Amino acid sequence: MEAMEKKSAPTQLRTQRASIKKDTIHPKEYQRYPLVSSCEDCSHFSERQKACTFGYNSANHLRNRQNHDYEVGGKMAFCRFLEID
Ligand code: SF4
Repeated sequence: MEAMEKKSAPTQLRTQRASIKKDTIHPKEYQRYPLVSSCEDCSHFSERQKACTFGYNSANHLRNRQNHDYEVGGKMAFCRFLEID
């Protein structure tokens, strides 16, 4: 039985979804600079469809969500594919 538990642990780890990485934002920077960090700022965001044209899940990168995350925990999830024209 113990051997089965040892074998199944890595499988369990592989199937668990990792939580999204969020970066800490210094309060001075948040207040001083206009952050260009959300899907609404990105060239790949369709305002009409309210979705990423690449098909990425934009839920964690929408402005309202990022502002909420910052206000609750001082962190935001930045999308590494964000582009600005
Ligand atoms: S590339 Fe990233 S930031 Fe840009 S719309 Fe898609 S999910 Fe949002």
